[in-house]
Amino acid sequence: MSEINKYFTSSYEESRTIFRKHLTTIQEKWPEATLSTKSIGEEADNTIDIIFSEARTSNEQVVFMTSGEHGIEGYAGGSVIHLFVEEYIDKIDPETTGICIVHALNPWGMRHYRRVTENNVDLNRNYIYNSSAVPEDINENYAKESDLFLPNGKLKDINKEKTHLFAQLGKGIADEGYQGIKKAKGMGQFEFERGVYYGGKAEEESALYLKELQRKLLSLFDRVIHMDWHTALGPTNEVTAVISEHDPREEEEIKADYQMNNIQKFSPKKVKGDSTNHFFKLKNEEYPDTHLFSALFEFGTFGTGKRAELRELTTIVLENQLYWEGAEKEKDRQWVLEEFQNMFYPEETDWRESVLKEARLAIDNVLTKEGILH
Ligand SMILES: [Zn+2]
Repeated sequence: MSEINKYFTSSYEESRTIFRKHLTTIQEKWPEATLSTKSIGEEADNTIDIIFSEARTSNEQVVFMTSGEHGIEGYAGGSVIHLFVEEYIDKIDPETTGICIVHALNPWGMRHYRRVTENNVDLNRNYIYNSSAVPEDINENYAKESDLFLPNGKLKDINKEKTHLFAQLGKGIADEGYQGIKKAKGMGQFEFERGVYYGGKAEEESALYLKELQRKLLSLFDRVIHMDWHTALGPTNEVTAVISEHDPREEEEIKADYQMNNIQKFSPKKVKGDSTNHFFKLKNEEYPDTHLFSALFEFGTFGTGKRAELRELTTIVLENQLYWEGAEKEKDRQWVLEEFQNMFYPEETDWRESVLKEARLAIDNVLTKEGILH
């Protein structure tokens, strides 16, 4: 069986079944390890699955991996966690190191090949540490562009819609309007329930659950090393680490530390309500002595540059419109769904091979530098 057939799945249930089997493998090293499942949302049988164990002798450190915060991106995440369990746990000392791996933080989204939750919420805009900290003008930029970001009627003719969006968004690139669009993308918006990049009006069950888990790990271990698996951003067929500005190191320093080519730093001023910043804030305020490494690892699809950015925005907008309003023609519906999959879970062999290769690179470098692998 090829590596690709072995690691990449095509349904949420298939991926979850494989994940649950990791328990036996992990118990060979951590006999106390347990599998917990947490039901999320209204639909039956959507669960977050967690395999966890403390270290056997002393809780010096923990390796923490999460997947599927953005639903559909969980397919690649599940593959990487599978790879990690097979190839890396033998290089970890269970006496001093705990383990915590998480399958499908947004199970509904993963099952339905969507990025958002069943409440249309982008989970990575939903972790507001303190809701009074949301600036009042956060929705303003978005409202200015709302004719582009809110669904308005059935998809009638995909070629026309695409051309129109490209022209509108492309025109924006030339003037300040484009900055408004980019801000809306980064900051999210908290007003339009059917719009793209919606951060929600209340905390999602998944967000509450992850926050509790962050707290538990920070309180139990001296060092927490977290890798959160995502797809789409960054150069095609390469991994990019997205690191919070709470990490005091410069980009160049981080590149050298982890031997990685692609590092992006982001600030809470540009991206609102994301889980990594929440993690760092919680650490700084309540567990200042705990060492935390936490970053997103993205497997690039469309690539970088203005054209790729336009293609991404167009895909996100059309998929959202399709979800809420439908399409008149079946072939248009198919086109949008395929393009969405091209963005977050491509079928191409090249891409899938690159995920495995780049994941090994990131795991090797990060976990060695952080003292997890020996
Ligand atoms: Zn993501």
